[in-house]
Amino acid sequence: MTSSFFPPQRTLLGPGPSDVAPRVLAALGQPTIGHLDPQFIALMDEIKELLQYAFQTENQLTLPISAPGSAGMEACFVNLLSPGDTVIVCQNGVFGGRMKENVERCGATAVMVEDAWGDPVSVAKVRQAFADHPEASTLAFVHAETSTGVRSDAKTLCALAHDNNALVIMDTVTSLGGIELKVDEWGADAVYSGSQKCLSSVPGISPVTFSQRAVERIMAREHKVQSWFLDMQLVMGYWGGETKRAYHHTAPVNALYALHESLVMLRDEGLDAAIARHARNHDALVAGLEAMGLQMAVAAEHRLPQLNAVCIPEGIDDATVRTQLLQDYDLEIGAGLGALAGKTWRVGLMGHSSRRRNVVLCLTALEAALQQQGLTVEPGAALRAAQASWTAAEA
Ligand SMILES: *Cc1c(COP(=O)(O)O)cnc(C)c1O
Repeated sequence: MTSSFFPPQRTLLGPGPSDVAPRVLAALGQPTIGHLDPQFIALMDEIKELLQYAFQTENQLTLPISAPGSAGMEACFVNLLSPGDTVIVCQNGVFGGRMKENVERCGATAVMVEDAWGDPVSVAKVRQAFADHPEASTLAFVHAETSTGVRSDAKTLCALAHDNNALVIMDTVTSLGGIELKVDEWGADAVYSGSQKCLSSVPGISPVTFSQRAVERIMAREHKVQSWFLDMQLVMGYWGGETKRAYHHTAPVNALYALHESLVMLRDEGLDAAIARHARNHDALVAGLEAMGLQMAVAAEHRLPQLNAVCIPEGIDDATVRTQLLQDYDLEIGAGLGALAGKTWRVGLMGHSSRRRNVVLCLTALEAALQQQGLTVEPGAALRAAQASWTAAEA
């Protein structure tokens, strides 16, 4: 007989979802009200404003799509692209590959710019792709590749696209709230994110923002957007500006309470402070891992503080270690994806998960697991190195 489900209390240091703060979970459990209730509509307006702050944009068309990050991705592609368009798609990990899928399903042509998994997007290759394809109307890339833990130079890529009269579609699912992201200053045109990474809300919501240039392209479309649910012209009528809201779908009311609370937390901490916290805890984690004799998979200058790819040492079994962390410490870390499966672990320090106690827990648990598998580790060296890193950051 089935009965109630009580999940274990885990510490989530994987590629998302991240730990959800108690006050966000408390918001989730508040009474459900109607999605056209005036109080809910006021909340929708606040969410839009808080998202504008998080994205650093004045874009009017800034809202949460009622579905996970993948739907935000799809929303950007289906609204901006029309059949016959040419799109330069950068791929240096899993998510660039999904962009290609989206482009082709829109009836557009993807010109691929490929870089090795673990490297950032090559600006020089993108420049060459624009030279070879002057007809390209759009550049698509992933700011923070969660599959590899790599940050690409979004500011330069946006500038390059605009020099070539192209609009930019940018994946910021893992970057929003964790590293610098300036939508207006950089001029990114269609940007999507997710609720469960550095915002540390519950999974299932995708914040998006569209520039004026993007809105103009959407308004001038000749082909209807192939997705009824994600057609921004329709979604705008529901989330839209001053006019009365028209029923489009039922917003996930409680999940939006949670998103709102997580955005209030981000605003109260301040974007710069949150970004600095991610950087400090990343530095301490790396210091600890290296003191344990482990190596990072990505060159220091391209690392994402919120997603740390660690090389699995020779002779150590990936799954055994991860299972032990989960069973003995209620600690989740991520496996490698695609080309990096079995070769790296991905330790996420995203949003509410980016805390000293979690760095300490992760280093302690890994040290124990690696020792059990016969790796020689100097006991306590990792924690001492992490502590020294925090002390140095405070000085
Ligand atoms: C997690 C992630 C996605 C997909 O988000 P879902 O909420 O899982 O659909 C897309 N892009 C990147 C870079 C991600 O990390």
